Amino acid sequence: MQDEKQNGLLIVNYHYIRDARQYRYPGIYPLERDAFVGQVRWLLSRFKPLSTEEIEAFVHGETALHEPGLCFTFDDGLGEHGWAAREVLEPLGVKAVFSVSSKPLIEEKGLMVHKIHWLRANTEPEKFRKEFMSLVPKEWLRRAEEENIANAAAQSYPYDSRGFASLKYMINFQLPNRIVDDIASEMLRARKVSESSFCRDYYLSKSEIAELCSKGHTIGNHGHSHTPFSRLSEGDLEREISDSLSFFSQLTGKEQTWVSYPHGRQWAIPADAEAFCRRFGFKIGLGLDGGWNKREGSPYLLNRINENDLKKLFI
Ligand SMILES: [Zn+2]
Repeated sequence: MQDEKQNGLLIVNYHYIRDARQYRYPGIYPLERDAFVGQVRWLLSRFKPLSTEEIEAFVHGETALHEPGLCFTFDDGLGEHGWAAREVLEPLGVKAVFSVSSKPLIEEKGLMVHKIHWLRANTEPEKFRKEFMSLVPKEWLRRAEEENIANAAAQSYPYDSRGFASLKYMINFQLPNRIVDDIASEMLRARKVSESSFCRDYYLSKSEIAELCSKGHTIGNHGHSHTPFSRLSEGDLEREISDSLSFFSQLTGKEQTWVSYPHGRQWAIPADAEAFCRRFGFKIGLGLDGGWNKREGSPYLLNRINENDLKKLFI
């Protein structure tokens, strides 16, 4: 680690920063606000935060670093990221990168992944499983049986019951995003939660995003609907990116040149990250595999460490 740190760049990524006690059941695993503040102070006491221009020059091999560099990133445009910027980062003079999906802002519809998190965190697990399965279209239930997903599911989720492992497997690997999204919307409706109020509670507003940008933070692309880019057809990928690019350039007056790949792992990222970035004009691509970034790495697939790994590794 010491050698890597010498001239490397550490990028830290945050998702939920909120009070875990507001949720009765598992589904959301947030970092508490105090822990976030502790991590920020700890990181700043050791590493030098870099501007986006300095990072671009370093990862494109144009400059070297003389001390370990640091970058804070926040994915998904969650409401609490506005708090993190205003109350924690800005008083310390730190700028960060906020990667936001455009669907909640354009359509006032929640992202599938967050609706599922929220429903799980507020529903007794077995009730959630039964309710979800009752809404899966019959042909997909049949296909799950034919493909015998129960075994694959048990291998992927060894700590869950067979029923719950199959449910997770269907949500994450088998069912098309569109179907899971429809089921999650139906479950929200059953709880009398409208998508627009869900969005108001969960996400940054347009004016908050414009304000972040005007304060010198970077608004990164995170797709329109948060569907893994690797799972989209050519046409859908084109729409997914160009819709979000034009929305954010109108909102902020700036072209987006950073992208954070939704889900961030190898399976979710376009096979040729460099070709993807060049096609859409991105200078930087952010993944979610942990570790330091070196000058000779690819700028189109940078490593990031998440809040929980950081907790384990350093604090
Ligand atoms: Zn995301």
